[in-house]
Amino acid sequence: MPLDIKALVNSRLGENYDLHDKYVNRTLVKVLRTVGFDKVYARAQGAYLYDKEGNAYLDFLSGYGVYNIGRNHPGVQKVIRDVLDMDLPNMVQLDCALLSGLLAEAVVKRTGPNLDAVFFCNSGTESVEGAIKFARCATGRTRLLSLAGSYHGLSYGSLSITGNQNFQNGFGPFLPGAEQVKYNDLADLEGKLKAGDVACFIAELVQGKGVNIPAEDYFPKAQELCRKYGALFICDEVQTGLGRTGKLFAYQHWNLDPDIITIAKALSGGYVPAAAFVMRRELYQKVYSSLDRCVVHSTTFGRNNLAMACGLATLQILDDEKIVENCAQRGEQLISRLRELQKKHDMIKEVRGKGLMIAIEFQEPGPLRSKMAWKAIHAVDKGLFPQMVVTQLLNKHRILAQVAGHHMDVLKILPPLIIGDKEVDHFVNSLDDVVENIASFSGPLWEFGTNLVKAAVSSGYNKKAAA
Ligand code: PMP
Repeated sequence: MPLDIKALVNSRLGENYDLHDKYVNRTLVKVLRTVGFDKVYARAQGAYLYDKEGNAYLDFLSGYGVYNIGRNHPGVQKVIRDVLDMDLPNMVQLDCALLSGLLAEAVVKRTGPNLDAVFFCNSGTESVEGAIKFARCATGRTRLLSLAGSYHGLSYGSLSITGNQNFQNGFGPFLPGAEQVKYNDLADLEGKLKAGDVACFIAELVQGKGVNIPAEDYFPKAQELCRKYGALFICDEVQTGLGRTGKLFAYQHWNLDPDIITIAKALSGGYVPAAAFVMRRELYQKVYSSLDRCVVHSTTFGRNNLAMACGLATLQILDDEKIVENCAQRGEQLISRLRELQKKHDMIKEVRGKGLMIAIEFQEPGPLRSKMAWKAIHAVDKGLFPQMVVTQLLNKHRILAQVAGHHMDVLKILPPLIIGDKEVDHFVNSLDDVVENIASFSGPLWEFGTNLVKAAVSSGYNKKAAA
């Protein structure tokens, strides 16, 4: 008898956290329970998640930037059903399948003319691994430069170039030749490029951790320096790509001409993993340089039909529904509304972002009572304050958001790019209410904060910062 997956889900929904506590990541379960994130979501559509009781939660996390086109998009669903109906020959491997060729064509149509050769893989970290391997092979050089504060993934190559010790502690030693350059510091970059042995400089154009945006001339000049010293310039567009920052790719904001870009997260519309890195043909051919090297870099599931078909559907949906344009417009609207809010609350230090990749940074408030409370929370853990905000947003206003990284007072939002006035209003009004309550440091919120601090201390809150 075939598995009745619907009956299985219906009969066991609600056991989620117990199952994970028993069989999966029980530390994560503990953190989610501590911060009040242990919801049981039963359904999702567009910008919303729904629990068993039918309550709607506004999803301003988007699976860490996967759901640019919204959740469970009918256009992607249809394509998945059609692919299943066709009984296509999948992953024959020693052939050239149509769908991967078509998706490569569709990607290059959007990244070309210079970025015209594609390698498909399964995740962001794998696209970064591939990009740095190709950079070493194509240049014959070994050093790899990345930015302080960066995040490029958690497998060994990408973790080696991730500029964040919270992810590295306990896992060393790392790849030899991996070095960090100071953020926004061209002299430091040039100093490190000068020896002429750097394979590549890789960067997120808007850094995911903290949502950091560089000086306007930083990346154009950094690219020039890379050219001058023969290093490849790689843009990690895993999070910023496919519309997130209000352009299809973030490098287009500065008219950059990278040698390689990485793409993942939103590429397949949120059902199946898909990723890619895209480069100039000449670099590609330096890796596959002879017939016996024709599969020298490869991955079994990389060009699988379902991922490729979903990628084709996603790119078409981005175009048809003018989703990138909506992102640019809603991003401006949200940032300007949040800056209005900043004028009202001195606890909001800064609102920054590009498109719908936005951070709200908090600072120590002026009034003595709130100042003391701020200090008490920070004495326990530097990441607790924004966690209080995030927990209130979820439990009081049913909005899912995240802290922007370790040891920072920054709230980060990554809404689906399809949001409209209703979602913008709900978020701004809810944040207004949460900050208002926090600033007054009274009532249930302050009680909750105190409880959170106590729970954090007793459970050894492990400073989870979302990837
Ligand atoms: N690079 C960047 C810029 C990312 O934001 C991420 C994921 N947050 C990765 C790489 C790693 O992607 P994945 O989690 O799919 O391995």
